[in-house]
Amino acid sequence: MNTPSGVAYINREFVPISEAKISVLDWGFLRSDATYDVVHVWKGRFFRLDTHIDRFIASLEKIHMTLPVSRQELEKILAECVIRSGHEDAYVEMILTRGVSPTFSRDPRDAINQLICFAIPFGWILRPEERENGLSVFISDIQRISSASIDPRVKNYHWLDLVMGLYDAYEHDAKAAILTDAAGNITEGPGFNVFTVKDNQIATPDAGVLEGITRRSALEIAHELKFDVVERPISRDEPLNADEVFATSTAGGIMPITKLNGRDIGSGSMGPMTRQIHDAYWAKHLDDTWSESVQSVQART
Ligand code: PLP
Repeated sequence: MNTPSGVAYINREFVPISEAKISVLDWGFLRSDATYDVVHVWKGRFFRLDTHIDRFIASLEKIHMTLPVSRQELEKILAECVIRSGHEDAYVEMILTRGVSPTFSRDPRDAINQLICFAIPFGWILRPEERENGLSVFISDIQRISSASIDPRVKNYHWLDLVMGLYDAYEHDAKAAILTDAAGNITEGPGFNVFTVKDNQIATPDAGVLEGITRRSALEIAHELKFDVVERPISRDEPLNADEVFATSTAGGIMPITKLNGRDIGSGSMGPMTRQIHDAYWAKHLDDTWSESVQSVQART
């Protein structure tokens, strides 16, 4: 089977990604019982690695898991995966699965949590050449799994709602979906958060979503640019009447959404506020406070 080129860390060793395999008895596979995080490397530099690791540790603690290595060891493992992969622009994932219970007991406390990390080439939700024209998205009536059931701030693999949203989008001639919640507000899409711009005010949902690191970057940049920005509930119809809509994700950064449910948003191409946040986001990739070379992470003591 073809796989992207890359290197994984699994069972305490580094292997080519094609050889990284987990047991079918791992709760991560059997029950989607896992948490994960994805950080990217751009031109040989990790982007906001500390922020991603903070979120990963907060996630695993919330679901009663224990990291089998120290934070510093984790950083070095991630750096080692990237260096061994040879990728200058990489998509770097860390996963903690509940693991296998030696007796196959039904008690999750018996399972031995397993850390898996890997680095593969950087992947885009929206390829750079498609960026100007933006994404065509469908706001689906499929509801995002309730945050009363699963805390969306814990990055997780409960993706069937999002995947069904994608099929709903394909049926409506769109490339991606945004799911709604029980109150009829928008939440997020498969792998991205959503922002709207109306009358120069930027808004993003305040609850029921993963607190994306790119979302956080966009919020911080918007504050630096002195834009009016709020986190609040956004009704299903609001984005349809917005001046600009954009998505944020580690897999592509700041991405304009230019078509919603078949309707053009704004001018139908990247809007001016989206562009300013987009440009500032990529400029931050060279800023030492937001990025660090892979080599220096590996050499951290
Ligand atoms: N929302 C969901 C459900 C996600 O899975 C992701 C990323 O995979 C995001 C939002 C965006 O988060 P980040 O900006 O940290 O990549």
